[in-house]
Amino acid sequence: MNTGIRNVAIIAHVDHGKTTLVDAMLRQSGLFRANQQLEERILDRDELERERGITILAKNTAILYGPVKINIIDTPGHADFGGEVERVLRMADGALLVVDAFEGPMPQTRFVLRKAFETHLKPIVVINKMDVPNARPKEVLDEVLDLFIELGADEQQIDFPVLYASARQGWASADPAARSGTMRPLFEAILEEVPTPSGDPSAPLQVLVTTLDYNEYLGRIGIGRVVNGTLRAGQPVMVSDRQGRLRPAKVGTLLTFLGLKREEVTEVQAGDIVAVTGIEALEIGETITDPERPSPLPPIRVEAPTISMY
Ligand code: GDP
Repeated sequence: MNTGIRNVAIIAHVDHGKTTLVDAMLRQSGLFRANQQLEERILDRDELERERGITILAKNTAILYGPVKINIIDTPGHADFGGEVERVLRMADGALLVVDAFEGPMPQTRFVLRKAFETHLKPIVVINKMDVPNARPKEVLDEVLDLFIELGADEQQIDFPVLYASARQGWASADPAARSGTMRPLFEAILEEVPTPSGDPSAPLQVLVTTLDYNEYLGRIGIGRVVNGTLRAGQPVMVSDRQGRLRPAKVGTLLTFLGLKREEVTEVQAGDIVAVTGIEALEIGETITDPERPSPLPPIRVEAPTISMY
């Protein structure tokens, strides 16, 4: 078990404030470490904007809250291209459902929430934009509850924690009538509510590739979760395709996420999310596994990109 990590997906209808919320969390990242001055730790806005210019909302962002690294996994906002939402949710152990305090749940809220339930995630509800004058948090909470019931939430899921937030102003609070000055209540809720990742660093290696990326220097990059075992840079592996056929390969470099950047590391243990280079022809849904004791994970659904209607 990796107690120093939480993997949380962020799900929302478009424009309900995912990007702004992650920005606010990033700006306060590291803020709450031992007695440091608040201002010192806040990422310079220009610096953040410069990084964002390149990444927009990065698909993977990591935020430090004390000793804990919170991996934040973005989900597609508009439409689901070939089951991408389902795939990326597989990297997470919990979800932040962001809902606009005025608009309430919208079609994409329903769509992503259904997918989160199918993936057995328990969402934390974030009612955002509490600063807008026409915010109606009480009704919106009722609408969210109705939606949970309608989508068949189980007993655990229906008991969801709620936070009221203004991502724009950088605060979250458990009490709709009292604002806090920071995002601390949201960080605390993530630590408390999102299960620590399961997985055994000494078990046979299993890395499920859920996303592909490309970089002109590094070539094809596979992003996924180390489900079990420990992945080491340069190690020989077996790659299992979606039909369960095995082929030998060698890992290049490994990167983990930190803020909006990626950081090269020598090994990544079960529970964390990794970007792997050096494996040509790596595909979504494949498992990177141990060369001596290959143990492929069940293949995940991959479809040709289609725009789903909902
Ligand atoms: P996304 O599509 O979910 O990533 O949404 P964005 O984070 O891009 O936000 C969409 C719009 O809502 C932007 O104009 C934001 O500035 C605005 N917004 C986001 N959070 C808040 C908030 O807490 N209060 C207010 N008033 N506006 C917000």
